[in-house]
Amino acid sequence: MKKIAILGSTGSIGTQTLEVVDHNPDMQVTALAVGSSIDPLEQQIRRYHPALACVWDEKKAGELRVRVADLPVRVLSGMDGLLAVATQPEAQIVVTALVGMIGIRPTIAAMEAGKDIALANKETLVTAGHIIMPLAAKLGVHILPVDSEHSAIFQCLQGENRGTIARILLTASGGPFRGRSLAQLRDVCVEDALKHPNWAMGKKITIDSSTMVNKGLEVMEARWLFDVDIDQVQVVVQPQSVIHSMVEFADGAVIAQLGTPDMKLPIQYALTYPERRDLPGKRLDFAALAGISFENPDMETFYGLRLAFEAGRRGGSLPTVYNAANEYAVRKFLNREIPYLAIVEMIEAAMRQHRVVDAPDVSQILATEQETYEYLKRIEGRWK
Ligand code: MG
Repeated sequence: MKKIAILGSTGSIGTQTLEVVDHNPDMQVTALAVGSSIDPLEQQIRRYHPALACVWDEKKAGELRVRVADLPVRVLSGMDGLLAVATQPEAQIVVTALVGMIGIRPTIAAMEAGKDIALANKETLVTAGHIIMPLAAKLGVHILPVDSEHSAIFQCLQGENRGTIARILLTASGGPFRGRSLAQLRDVCVEDALKHPNWAMGKKITIDSSTMVNKGLEVMEARWLFDVDIDQVQVVVQPQSVIHSMVEFADGAVIAQLGTPDMKLPIQYALTYPERRDLPGKRLDFAALAGISFENPDMETFYGLRLAFEAGRRGGSLPTVYNAANEYAVRKFLNREIPYLAIVEMIEAAMRQHRVVDAPDVSQILATEQETYEYLKRIEGRWK
């Protein structure tokens, strides 16, 4: 029996992880954690019977505790609760699907407790890759990517010597605004930015896909996961999202992973690795496929991607600033407090004022996050 803890069980990755569990009778959910969505969490508890649950919001945790008093589940709250879910003795693998830098400490705690990590929280590697990857090697735990691109690269690398990687070809759909100029993006509203052409995902990541900041975060993540130089990662726009990423090797061979856009594949692969299993769902129909096309990303319009390469090259605390500024700005945009283009403008402003700390530890990373939020709060009047 594979015992699984899920951090972020009511989000897009969390609910699809539970669908994967439904198809695999030898998988069992033993602990669940959410931010504040207690209605779906209550249903999940009744269906999957975890021994432990956590609601970040203390008040909501109290409400849930009353509602599930008829069940033998322990309900915790706050960071202590997240850490308890991450380190629950029963669980063998922890799916980290929390959105944001809140995922860093539970991920490290889970690793230290000897758990494998099915990593769906980008922020962990973007901001703390220099801590996480050596720690995983030292502890002998697996970091199994759940993001579709990184899973694709991981699949392409099976049986290969990682020393022979020439380039990682990270594919991107280009998002809903591919082909537009900066001037044409001035009046984008929340609803426009939430319409992704291929993938159904959570709100934050859908906005990030539209700005290509998501791809920028993925570039930085790939650099750590596959131990390559950031300039060995090349973004290739492939608008149909049929190729989920590729690896070019020293001899010029390129291996790609293709499939329909279904996150259950990378989720299941992370949970069953190194085994590949049956997964119901649509299959690629090459005869019906009109074509697969490629182009270079437009780094002038989507200069958030260019800033990600800059942050990744400099390293230290700069990727944390990039990520924190984006988290802050996307929240403001979703609340309709700032215009669309302000998202990347805020990232750039925060990066320019930051004095980089080399090899920051976790407390310095979290301090940099707070400083970035405070800086943007002071200057956000510029965009209102
Ligand atoms: Mg992705």
